[in-house]
Amino acid sequence: MAFAREGRRWQRALPLSRFPRIALEALGSEGELEVSVTGWVDREGHSFLGLEVVGELTVGCQRCMEPMVWSFHVDNRLMLVPEGRPFPEDELDDDRYDAIEVSARLDLAELAEEEVLLAMPISPRHESCEVPSESDGASRASPFAGLAKLRGSDGQV
Ligand SMILES: [Zn+2]
Repeated sequence: MAFAREGRRWQRALPLSRFPRIALEALGSEGELEVSVTGWVDREGHSFLGLEVVGELTVGCQRCMEPMVWSFHVDNRLMLVPEGRPFPEDELDDDRYDAIEVSARLDLAELAEEEVLLAMPISPRHESCEVPSESDGASRASPFAGLAKLRGSDGQV
């Protein structure tokens, strides 16, 4: 909370290995996420964080099953609600920010991880790609069919 009160700014380029839950969703462990957090307090005394995360992750396309690069730029505004305090009533009506409950100690990298996970596509797909077709499967199967026939004829000789 002091972070917001004092209007601090935190900026880091962190390796993907620093974000175990994101790494779990990605293919490979290469890459870096650029995290930038700014804190401020509004006129009513509410603490806010502006949280930006920029990066690229390799994920599996859910249509063709090949890897694809997901480039993202998460840019969220979070209102910090101290643990045990009620959430502001108009929070749900206001889509300019999300309210989150925070304890005295705030882990900014963990917060960034959470926001990236929320932004992650549930079912990532290339803009244009095709489902591996049935005919591919058939042509892949045919050499074995031919082999089976060959074996069969060998057996008969
Ligand atoms: Zn694809």
